[in-house]
Amino acid sequence: MDLGLTGKVAMVTGASRGLGRAMAHALADEGVHVSVCARTRDALNQAVAALTKAGSAIGFVGDVTKPDDAQRWVDETVKKFGGIDVLVNNAGTARPGALAELPESAWQEQFDLNLFAPIRLARLCAGHMEKRGGGSIINIGSIYGRESGGPLAYNASKAALHSFTKMLAREYAPKNIRVNTIAPGSILTPGGIWEQLFRENPAFEKDFIGHEMPAGRLGRPDEVAFAVVMLASPRASWITGTNIPVDGAQGRSIL
Ligand code: NAD
Repeated sequence: MDLGLTGKVAMVTGASRGLGRAMAHALADEGVHVSVCARTRDALNQAVAALTKAGSAIGFVGDVTKPDDAQRWVDETVKKFGGIDVLVNNAGTARPGALAELPESAWQEQFDLNLFAPIRLARLCAGHMEKRGGGSIINIGSIYGRESGGPLAYNASKAALHSFTKMLAREYAPKNIRVNTIAPGSILTPGGIWEQLFRENPAFEKDFIGHEMPAGRLGRPDEVAFAVVMLASPRASWITGTNIPVDGAQGRSIL
């Protein structure tokens, strides 16, 4: 099936490693011009070098929680590729801690990256998508934004992101801009948090998989990236305002 993505332009936040990197590769494989952003130059350069082997890509070193960086990244993308069709708000962080352990600044940091950065980038990109006749905004949430679980501030910020996504989808439907959330379950990424936790405590790995993962394993980045490609495609024209778990039935929510 031709997904109609050849020549489209996509921006992916947090693409120097983990899920974002897999998403950028999956889009590049479909012929998408990819603009990726991360904070660390070396890691970003490596990611862009790998991406340009598959297709056309540019990298921007910046922090999406900083309004000036976000604006410059959008401007550079439009200058290089002529417009924007797809925005993937992938960068996110999970700060552990119970209520009494988390200072106000930790809540602010969590919401700055997981909620306010996606809001800012959606605002900056929507006008460019409108000029192209439509587009797709994909926000990466979590199963722990659909149901209780995970760290407290993380869960609250991801639930807020899911809520924002639904409202924005209704607002932008008349302009043919689709807005969806993907809610990954636990995904094993090279050097990522799960790999670290399991290396430090192999007994925890066995216990966690036994209790939480019905398929007997964690998910893979390419399994989440596939859902991104599907939502990015204009063929998903009637899929908007939804929240798609990609979790191997890890989540317990029936909604
Ligand atoms: P990760 O920590 O491995 O990678 C995050 C990426 O975001 C990195 O490239 C990092 O440089 C970048 N980043 C962080 N802060 C940034 C900032 N301020 N500006 C620009 N870039 C920034 O994360 P991951 O595990 O690949 O997760 C990606 C997304 O998926 C996150 O939103 C996360 O909450 C969500 N998620 C992950 C899992 C999982 O099990 N890995 C599960 C559910 C949801």
